[in-house]
Amino acid sequence: MTLTEKLLARASGKASVQAGDNIWVSADVLMTHDVCGPGTIGVFKREFGKTAKVWDKQKIVIIPDHYIFTADSKSNRNVDILREFAGEQGLPYFYDVIDDPKGHWVYDAVKGNMKRQYGSRYAGVCHAALPAKGHTRPGEVLFGTDSHTCMAGAFNQFATGIGNTDAGFVMGTGKLLIKVPETMHFRLEGKLQPGVMAKDIILHCIGEIGFDGATYRAMQFDGAGIATLSMDDRMTIANMAIEAGGKNAIFEYDARTAEYVDARVKLNGTKASYTPVTRDPNEKFVYELVVDLSQLEPTVACHPDPGQRKKAKEMNQKLDRAYVGSCTGGKTSDFVEFARVLRGKKVVIDTFGVPATPDIVNDLQTTYWGNSTIWQILVDAGVQMTENAGCAACLGGPVDTFGRINKSGINCISATNRNFPGRMGDKESKVFLASPATVAASALTGKVTDPREYLGN
Ligand code: SF4
Repeated sequence: MTLTEKLLARASGKASVQAGDNIWVSADVLMTHDVCGPGTIGVFKREFGKTAKVWDKQKIVIIPDHYIFTADSKSNRNVDILREFAGEQGLPYFYDVIDDPKGHWVYDAVKGNMKRQYGSRYAGVCHAALPAKGHTRPGEVLFGTDSHTCMAGAFNQFATGIGNTDAGFVMGTGKLLIKVPETMHFRLEGKLQPGVMAKDIILHCIGEIGFDGATYRAMQFDGAGIATLSMDDRMTIANMAIEAGGKNAIFEYDARTAEYVDARVKLNGTKASYTPVTRDPNEKFVYELVVDLSQLEPTVACHPDPGQRKKAKEMNQKLDRAYVGSCTGGKTSDFVEFARVLRGKKVVIDTFGVPATPDIVNDLQTTYWGNSTIWQILVDAGVQMTENAGCAACLGGPVDTFGRINKSGINCISATNRNFPGRMGDKESKVFLASPATVAASALTGKVTDPREYLGN
């Protein structure tokens, strides 16, 4: 069995399963957020009764993150519904935007878009917050009402996005019927060159198979090259499995996984025990690709989908805007590479930076390079940095969303994960997906630029 099959067999109480089997799987964690949470709660109450209790309070994680810092009253109401439900059910893992459990978030015009407008429990983008808060454990099953739930596959989990109806059912029963996916095998060898990032690995892989090339399939990443990748790198790769249509991504477990997970579960007091899945000699794959990391170059996915692969050095695409942020590209390590290229220079196009979580804001504001923090280096370079960590313009959102593309027909280079028409707002605009290093180099020139030109920086 492949890693995914082994994990699903265990979660369904069977000795073995194979691709195509329909099995009942027990969930270890169900995550929902402000966009899908109210719908999920509605389904749960309709099907299980208004006074029903969730199947396991410890296994439900609610993370408002999408449409938070907006004056849009319907979006604000969504978070209120989550707050009421978490209170009613006594859920310990509700990462509210405000500290008052009876309160209501209100936009503060004095603080505006840039200064933090959240309380002490706010956790930021769900997929970055889940591991940071100790909710991702090797060998477990994570369902989330968001397509990028696959990001947690970096931790040797079966993690996949589900709809509100399924999530309502999981909320009541802790189980879900799953068809075991076929597995595609991506064996990573070698080590990335300077200036090339994990984002380039996944853009390369999606370029090979197309944006529907992994539809309802598991994408297994293993090989000697994995050891050279940080957990942030692995998260970037797993995050974009869905951009090839993948059901899930899964990485091998190693000492680096253990170190990351053990530290986070301890910090947040979440469940500390877990049993990883390891590889069998008899794995059957429906596809094999060997990727020599040392041969990869800065890569861009062009409009209108994540499979439109080009090398940055071969492009001469004019740009109007640059954006770094999201679960894929808004981690501390992403901002570090972004800042490494921008340090001491000035961007020439509108450039926005949105850290994925408040902890990342804190990292950037307290880490000094010389006399300046990384945050200040970015601000000095002309980047509009907001402290309001969240999804922000990654998926457009309400018109007052920070960094949203409201102008018509512009070209934006972005460290996010999805570039279908209208994704970041305006439907006539084009989004080019790239690594934070490539976004930085491109922000300095106003056209798509290979960041290796700035390696001496
Ligand atoms: S940052 Fe973007 S991709 Fe990630 S969860 Fe939010 S909207 Fe989805």
